[in-house]
Amino acid sequence: MSEQEFFEVELEDGKESGGDVLKEKTLEGLKKEEKEETKDFEPVCCICRRPENVAGKMTRVQGDFCICRDCMQRMFDTINTTGFPMEDMMDMGKMPNISMINLADLQGFAPYAPKIKKKKKEQKTEQAFDISQVPAPHKIKASLDEYIIGQEHAKKVMSVAVYNHYKRVSSDCGTDLDVEIEKSNMLMIGPTGSGKTYMVKTLAKLLDVPLAITDATSLTEAGYIGDDIESVVSKLLAAADNDVDKAEHGIIFIDEIDKIAKKRNTNQRDVSGESVQQGMLKLLEGAEVEVPVGASSKNAMVPMVTVNTKNILFICGGAFPDLEEIIKERLNKAASIGFKADLKDKYDKEENLLMKVLVEDVRKYGMIPEFLGRLPILFSLEALTEDMLVRVLAEPKNAIVRQYQKLLAMDEVKLEFEEGALYAIAAKAKEKKAGARALRAILEEYMLDIMYEIPKDDNIGKVTITKAYIEGAGGPLITMRGAAASMV
Ligand code: ADP
Repeated sequence: MSEQEFFEVELEDGKESGGDVLKEKTLEGLKKEEKEETKDFEPVCCICRRPENVAGKMTRVQGDFCICRDCMQRMFDTINTTGFPMEDMMDMGKMPNISMINLADLQGFAPYAPKIKKKKKEQKTEQAFDISQVPAPHKIKASLDEYIIGQEHAKKVMSVAVYNHYKRVSSDCGTDLDVEIEKSNMLMIGPTGSGKTYMVKTLAKLLDVPLAITDATSLTEAGYIGDDIESVVSKLLAAADNDVDKAEHGIIFIDEIDKIAKKRNTNQRDVSGESVQQGMLKLLEGAEVEVPVGASSKNAMVPMVTVNTKNILFICGGAFPDLEEIIKERLNKAASIGFKADLKDKYDKEENLLMKVLVEDVRKYGMIPEFLGRLPILFSLEALTEDMLVRVLAEPKNAIVRQYQKLLAMDEVKLEFEEGALYAIAAKAKEKKAGARALRAILEEYMLDIMYEIPKDDNIGKVTITKAYIEGAGGPLITMRGAAASMV
């Protein structure tokens, strides 16, 4: 080949290949553009209309249709059992020795399986909860002390119960045939705003376990309007991010439990009272419950999962209004009998009668014995006194006063409260009879003007809330930066 010929060939080759690259590029570009266009849209199965995030990975077929694996498998199954439609038409019957594949065999997935984290088999033999992670009762109580004011007895009982519960869970003594340790489910009685919910929340946070808080008022017997009893487990599963193992070591707090007391003097079916108590028995003791994932009610489209409630700690709480009357009656009766008979009305003016509660009082209130038997730890919280309310205002780690101080510190303004002012707020809260719940509302009322006015003036350096301001006889003390204080 001469030198010229060689160059010509090379040139031609180069041209040819250059042309192909161009062609390919344009095809690729088109594909890319198409992809870009469809990127923002989620593929939807053309048969069942479910999007990819629900139905799982899609298979694209010609014409840019998507089919989910469930529908694909259904198609294969139909063909397997009935043969090809064409064959039917031609009366040929099913093709001998030919069957369509099972997708599940190939790819290791079950076509209709819910997409939930599955329990691993080997985990059963492992210790699900490490006892060394559960702090000793005195440490649990010390941590609770940082957040909860007073309630010494309740904190102590709770710390021990929780410690024992997780000890039982970790050693799995529940299944030991020799000594069976019972569950430490609790029944907490205390006036509104005394810290029942707060205590459980703090406890769950300290132990780092999932917590579900539900209200017993919405629960009804299965089949009636209202939430199923099992919906409480469903909520816990949601709190545990649908992780069954995590949920099985969680805490369920059922508030307003007194609202499911047996209704007295009624001849109708008690679907939200005694029946709910009956329905809860199995759950409290430990049962395998089928719960829907990601929904509160069961229906055909929602995947189900089985949760064992054996190691779930149930804490029930309620204010039990009028329970004091029952306790008083019992105490007065006992005091007025026999040689040591006392005054008949000795307990009439006694405060914190709830602390003297016994199981029989709660039974008389309307809780059935089987239900109470499954909540072996019974304790009461005391009503918060004025002194305790003052401490609630200022002492806990996230006390309301500290929260306001932090807010104003962002504007570089110092906020102080006179001791008298704190007592005046506590006195107002006590009048409202809503415990510590009233504190925030009262303080909000007084802080509104301050929060509104302060950012207006950059010269303000400090605000002192005075007793007079709370009592309506004056204003807060405003101190300018580098200047003397002035009353507003
Ligand atoms: P309830 O007993 O009605 O469930 P909560 O636990 O919901 O009352 O209390 C309402 C709020 O009052 C809580 O968020 C918490 O800030 C405050 N609180 C109540 N009791 C105490 C307490 N003993 N110590 C500190 N804060 C408390």
